[in-house]
Amino acid sequence: MIQLATAPPRTPEELAERCLAAGMAIDRPVSEGDLTEILEFIPHWLAVADADTDEQRAVLLNALLASASAHPRVTDHADGGWHIHYRDDGLGLGAVLRAVVSVGTALHLTGRGMHRLGRCTLAECGRVYADFTRGGRQRYCCHACANRDAVRRHRARRAAGRERAQRVAQGRVAGGEASGDGETVACGVPNGRGDGRRHSRRPA
Ligand SMILES: [Zn+2]
Ligand SMILES: [Zn+2]
Repeated sequence: MIQLATAPPRTPEELAERCLAAGMAIDRPVSEGDLTEILEFIPHWLAVADADTDEQRAVLLNALLASASAHPRVTDHADGGWHIHYRDDGLGLGAVLRAVVSVGTALHLTGRGMHRLGRCTLAECGRVYADFTRGGRQRYCCHACANRDAVRRHRARRAAGRERAQRVAQGRVAGGEASGDGETVACGVPNGRGDGRRHSRRPA
């Protein structure tokens, strides 16, 4: 689902191909209606990922489950071995996918932690991730985004440090001029930049 939400399919064929590639069995022809259904479903699922609190997330997810899932039943269709469907039989791919994603999201969040779904912290990325990490503290969709943000924060810290140093230096100069005698302030500047000249100009 994350892939479909990140780059929504443009045609029913593309939707079918991507579901097959993800290991889903497709028993019925995929229609324009299936595609429309999924494109309409994506923002509702993203709202679950964007929920601010666990309670809000549960409310939104329960609404999806109510409209997408049905009572569980045991089936062995498509030679896949016995397994559970949380949906009615004979549905199109759009409805199947909505049920699979809603139930899958519910199982993931209740099994591993309600907070384990979110958006990448990198501002310009914003991709959704499902957190399967051991510690459950994932904040980025991938290592590339985490690295890029780490480099950016490091540079921002360095720039802020330089700015602070500049301000301190300027403050010293300004303080020296304002104090009139300048003995304690200007003389103490270790880099010696311009101190000599400033002192020589003073009527000491
Ligand atoms: Zn099945
Ligand atoms: Zn990212």
